[in-house]
This record gives sequence, C-alpha cells and structure tokens, in this order.
Amino acid sequence: MTVRLAAGLAAARAVGGLARATGRGGGTSLPGKVLTRVEPHAIERLAGRLSRGSVVISATNGKTTTAAMVSSVLERGGTRLVHNRAGANMVGGVASALAAAARRGGRELDGDLGLFEVDEFWLGPVVEELEPRAILLSNLFRDQLDRYGELDIIADRWAELVGRRGAASRLVLNADDPLVADLGRATETSPRPAGGALYFGVEDDSLALAELQHASDSKHCRRCGHAYIYETVYLAHLGRYHCPNCGRRRPDPAVVGRDVELRGIRSAAFTLAHAGEEHRVELPLPGLYNVYNALGAAALCLALEIPLAQVAAGLAAVAPAFGRAETLDLGGRPTSILLVKNPAGANEVLRTLTLEGRELDVFGVLNDRTADGRDVSWVWDADWEVLAPHVRRMTCSGTRAAELALRMKYAGVDPERLRVIEGLPEGLDAALAHGDGPLYALPTYTALLELRELLARRGQAEEYWR
Ligand SMILES: [Zn+2]
Repeated sequence: MTVRLAAGLAAARAVGGLARATGRGGGTSLPGKVLTRVEPHAIERLAGRLSRGSVVISATNGKTTTAAMVSSVLERGGTRLVHNRAGANMVGGVASALAAAARRGGRELDGDLGLFEVDEFWLGPVVEELEPRAILLSNLFRDQLDRYGELDIIADRWAELVGRRGAASRLVLNADDPLVADLGRATETSPRPAGGALYFGVEDDSLALAELQHASDSKHCRRCGHAYIYETVYLAHLGRYHCPNCGRRRPDPAVVGRDVELRGIRSAAFTLAHAGEEHRVELPLPGLYNVYNALGAAALCLALEIPLAQVAAGLAAVAPAFGRAETLDLGGRPTSILLVKNPAGANEVLRTLTLEGRELDVFGVLNDRTADGRDVSWVWDADWEVLAPHVRRMTCSGTRAAELALRMKYAGVDPERLRVIEGLPEGLDAALAHGDGPLYALPTYTALLELRELLARRGQAEEYWR
C-alpha cells in the first residue's frame, strides 16, 4: 500500500505541474488523476496525515472567493494550509494539491489543515475520501443545465451525503437558501455529538427586493412540495421564507450579517454577529453575493473555533481572485473583471454595476465552449435590463458575441452603443480604445481563462490566477 502511494506520487511528479497545484499557482488536476489511478485511495491516505483534518466548501457560486476568504483568515493565524486552487475542484484537483504537499513518498505532509473547494457534482466522492471535519454548503443556483441536470438532483445527492456523514462532519449551511438550509433538517431531529448545523444568513430588511427575481430557482418546499412564501428576498431565491403547508421555515442563523453597506464595484461592509459578539467588517470585495461568501467563510472559521476578531480581520485582508472583481490597470484604464456564468451570479454582478453611479463602458464576452455549457440560453434569463440604462458603450465578443448583442438590444440598449467583435483580443483592444475611465469586463468561464492568458502574454497580469 505504501509502495503504491509512493509510486503514484512519483508518477504524479513526473507529469509535472505539481508546483502549480497549490500555493499561488493555478489549478491543475493531471498529477492528481495520475496519482489516483495508481493509488485509488491516495486522497484518503494523504489527507489522513493532516493534523487538523480537512474542510470542504461547495456551492454553485462563490466557491473560489469563499475559499480565498477562509485561507486569509486561517493563514493569519499561522495555519499551514493544503489548498486546491480555483478551477481544480474535482477529484484530480484535490489529489493534486495533496500530492504537491506530500513529502518522503507520502509519509509526511507539508500542511496542518486541508481547505478544499469542491465542485457541487463531485462532492460525494471527494468527501468519502477526505472525511472532512466540516462541510460548508453555500448556495445552489441553476448552472449549466446541460452538464448537471436539475438542481433537485444535486440537492438529493447532498442530502444523501449529509445523511451518510452523520455527526462526523460539522455542517455549515446558508439559512437563506431553502435548498441548502433543508440539509440541516436531519440534524434537528437526531442528536449529533458534534452539534447541529451551523447556519449563517443576512438580516437586513433594507436590502429586500420587491419580489423573486426572474432567475430564481428553488421555490418549493423540500419537505412537502408546496410553494414557499417569502417575507423577504435578498438575492435570487435567498431570503426569509416559510412553507404555509407544513410550517417549515428558514432556520435562525447563528452567524448573522447585518447593517450591510454596498459600495459599488470596490467594496462592501457589514456587521458580523455571533454569540453576542459583533465586529464591523470592511470587505474589499463588492456586492451582496460577496457578503454571503464572507458570512459562509466566517461561519466555517467559527466552526473551527477561530475567534471572531481574527475572522473579521482575515476577511478585511482578503485579495480578490482573478476574475472575481479584480481590477487591473490596462493601458491607463482601470479594468474590473467580473465572471458571469449563470443567471443568478450574473444578476448580482449586474446589480452591483448599477451601484457605480456612472455611465458604464462594458466589455462582454460570451463563449459556448464545453466548460461554459454549450447552451448559452441562460443569458436570456439574466436581468440585463437593470444594466441597460447605464450602458454608455458595450463591446460584445466571444464565440456567441452576436447573441449577447441581441440580448442587450432586447434589454433596451440602443444598438448605436453596441459593437460586435468576435475575437477576444481585438474586442478588448477596441473596448479599451473607445472611451476613458473604468472599463467593466464580463467574461464567461472559458472567456475568463482566455482573457487571463492574453493579459499574461502581454505582461499585464500574473501568469497564474491566485
Ligand atoms: Zn412544506
């Protein structure tokens, strides 16, 4: 067994890329795939050497940013993390990160705690091997339907997984997302020595939306199938809800964000409250969606018994990940890059952009390559209408540039303000050349990767995303 692990690690090293599997490097899953082919239980065996165990983060939106926040908090406290980075969030990526930290043929591991963001579809197999001490589940939105099928299928798989783990993993759940919050139901009826689920949520009625947004998903009670009634909607289907039929309601969160202040594309602030203690958090990331990411990260850290003051300080020090509201100087124009990949995530980015209080120059890149989901019909479900009145110019690029431009026309943008330039480099240059001041780039997933490579080639961004 030991020989197989050592042989697998040697093979993983031979295919290269291990240096990039962790640390500041970008995501790569090939070494991990090679490793698990030689030793199928490599994750279990290596993770077993982490003196403080592992934690796992999954969600449709915000995994990478949430993990960066947790990392910022824990590293300030001196914890040595084994952490898979953005994008490498399936079995291979987790195995790669562990392999990169392995020493002496896997007999030692350079790290105390494993921090893994895991694709929502792969959570089961990864958790089986990792046996994490805590699992943070943040949100479930409709994402790339042609890849994953119905949301309820993922919710069912998660429920099964949570049932199997029992009290072995502390659950950290978003109280405001009914699909996620319901996963804690089992912990309310059977006694769990590790404590029940730890819920987090927003409590700030000034943020309430008038009604459920167009892109809202989970509207029906997981327990009885009846439609939920929302007292307050904060974001997509997140809010304060109850089922009038069976009485199921949003659990009271123990970790609460209140007095939320959204300050355009740059930052947000909120009061983080837990167990009678409060800290004001100045978050260098924009939007209510990042407040949710911060609350999830905070709750996970609190589940690891990190003091609240240290949590707040770590959140304030987090740096944006590439493409998650990072702003780069491109030839004198501050360019903010905001990934859009599904209706709920896009809506939050669009809503945040309208807080800029200015006319906007926008560079939208819509691709339909495999990793984006071939079906780009989701752009018709996102609320571009909220952005339309703010658009000064919009350059549409990518393999489906024309469809994006068409969507913008339907949203009410004057066609004179729109340009279609399919090639991403040419589109970016045109967007930069016309106008002045800030530029807002909205790429889909593969477009973000292309943009990153382009900027790295031009020496305008770090070679690998953080
Ligand atoms: Zn019900």
